[in-house]
Amino acid sequence: MAAGSRLGERNTRQRDTIAEVIRDAAGPLTVPEIFERSQQSIPGLGIATVYRTVKLLSEAGQLQAVILPSGETRYESAQLGHHHHFHCRVCQTVYDMQTCLVRVPESRSVDRGFVIESHELTCYGVCPACA
Ligand SMILES: [Zn+2]
Ligand SMILES: [Zn+2]
Repeated sequence: MAAGSRLGERNTRQRDTIAEVIRDAAGPLTVPEIFERSQQSIPGLGIATVYRTVKLLSEAGQLQAVILPSGETRYESAQLGHHHHFHCRVCQTVYDMQTCLVRVPESRSVDRGFVIESHELTCYGVCPACA
């Protein structure tokens, strides 16, 4: 049906735009941030659509949720390798950091028999744009 196929095209375009916004970001984004950035290319976009699309892309393995120590949930590409996050306390932007600053001997017992398999790190401070 023509109407159905137009709707399908619109959904695909929305999904592609949202995936692109997340891919182009300097770090993981909240749903309101994804909504705000996608709105520029998708007039009439609703935030419920962004929530639904983010869920779909996560289930498809394209996105992964980042849950910060504050409990805030953000989304980033599932294709990124191991990296840390930097939360700017001035502008509240969360950036990906390129360098792993932690030298943990993984898969070795380092402390009373605890075997570390992975780690996550969120740094806090002031980003170059706010410094
Ligand atoms: Zn900043
Ligand atoms: Zn690391």
